[in-house]
Amino acid sequence: MDTTCVIAGGGPAGAMLALLLARAGVQVTLLEKHADFLRDFRGDTIHPSTLQVLDELGLLGEFQKLPYHEFPYLALNTGDRVVTVADFRSLPGRFQKIAMVPQWEFLNMIISAAKAYPAFNLIMEAEVTGVLRDGAVIRGLRYRHDGRTHEIRAGLTVAADGRHSDVRRVLGLKPVDLGAPMDVVWFRLERDPGTPEDTFLRPGRGEGMVAINRDTYWQLAYLIPKGSYGALKARGVESFRAAIRKLIPFVRPDRLTFDDVSVLTVAVNRLRRWHLTGLLVIGDAAHAMSPIGGVGINLAVQDAVAAANILAGPLARAQQRRRPVLDPVPASLLAKVRRRRIFPTVATQQLQIMVQNRVIQPVLAGAQLPQDLGAAADRLPLGVKRLVGRVIGLGFLPEHVRSHQVDKRSVTTGQVT
Ligand SMILES: Cc1cc2nc3c(=O)[nH]c(=O)nc-3n(C[C@H](O)[C@H](O)[C@H](O)COP(=O)(O)OP(=O)(O)OC[C@H]3O[C@@H](n4cnc5c(N)ncnc54)[C@H](O)[C@@H]3O)c2cc1C
Repeated sequence: MDTTCVIAGGGPAGAMLALLLARAGVQVTLLEKHADFLRDFRGDTIHPSTLQVLDELGLLGEFQKLPYHEFPYLALNTGDRVVTVADFRSLPGRFQKIAMVPQWEFLNMIISAAKAYPAFNLIMEAEVTGVLRDGAVIRGLRYRHDGRTHEIRAGLTVAADGRHSDVRRVLGLKPVDLGAPMDVVWFRLERDPGTPEDTFLRPGRGEGMVAINRDTYWQLAYLIPKGSYGALKARGVESFRAAIRKLIPFVRPDRLTFDDVSVLTVAVNRLRRWHLTGLLVIGDAAHAMSPIGGVGINLAVQDAVAAANILAGPLARAQQRRRPVLDPVPASLLAKVRRRRIFPTVATQQLQIMVQNRVIQPVLAGAQLPQDLGAAADRLPLGVKRLVGRVIGLGFLPEHVRSHQVDKRSVTTGQVT
């Protein structure tokens, strides 16, 4: 099978890039190894920068039909007081809240929008196993589907297959590890009516919790020292439940078991090079983010928007001359994507590492919290709380959709066999 662009991985980065390219008339095939997008405990935070992109794509109405819950600020809960530490309410632009929506709902919405364009082709249960290469030039992907191995040739191959990227691995591309002191145990507990409304951080001694109000339930992230999940399990479920009750007295973990949790091994890393001739790496595959600030999805989406802004025009023009485009996209053009996205990536990771080292590491090492932590947080000037809100909500260098849109009916199909 031949196409202009083949993308490995239908996460936020791959799905958004596929939509934007198909929307610009570029033949694109998206390969996703799972049969659906239904995976729990993935990033669910849709920040104002991503809401802005959805608005620019005319998808806001569809998004608002999804089961989402919003929060306009992030609080610090010290046990005796709750104080706002990041305020989104004065962000410039149309959106002043973070929306929480199950990631599969978000992805299904993006995929449905992409399906409106004949240039889009999706193959589910297609596991990428290798790349088609000609020396250092990448010419497409090899994948398993229906028990057989297939090959797809393309002028542009995109690795958007996440933090454990298979494409990266088969190419021997190794990200630089920036270190993370913690792992995260995700779970959910029913939310009783009348319990606090805030989404908050709750530091403890040697542990911490992030509690996200999802309306009918709490999505909880229990922070533990790196590599200590085995020790947590060994102490037994009663000890785990007691730790949860101590941090958040108004939840009921009585029936929670270790089968109900999902463990995120936190990694912060990034590739030095995001491209080879004919190949681009974006999203978590190029840079795994710390969960601090919940920015992973949003950076992945921003990478996709930047990539489409740079590549859709040249690919669509080349496709008019010869369909599909199999000449590998030059490294010089692909390098522009990294040049555009490296500053927001590095700046965000640096801030995350600063918070990891100065706040999370001491907390997880068992440091005594200052007696007046709540009062000190309360004294933070409003301008600082708004700045934190801006960094989380909009990030550095928010992208806008500049790639063109073709008439949905006038485009050739994405699949050219
Ligand atoms: C437990 C957990 C909680 C998180 N919480 C948050 C949060 O609250 N907020 C936030 O913003 N981020 C969060 N993140 C991070 C966020 O999910 C990622 O940063 C984001 O999804 C990255 O998008 P991506 O498209 O680059 O990669 P991914 O979302 O990882 O998508 C990669 C896709 O590639 C597919 N794939 C992998 N290998 C292959 C292959 N060989 N062939 C074909 N397909 C393949 C995968 O099935 C997947 O669909 C969390 C992550 C985890 C694991």
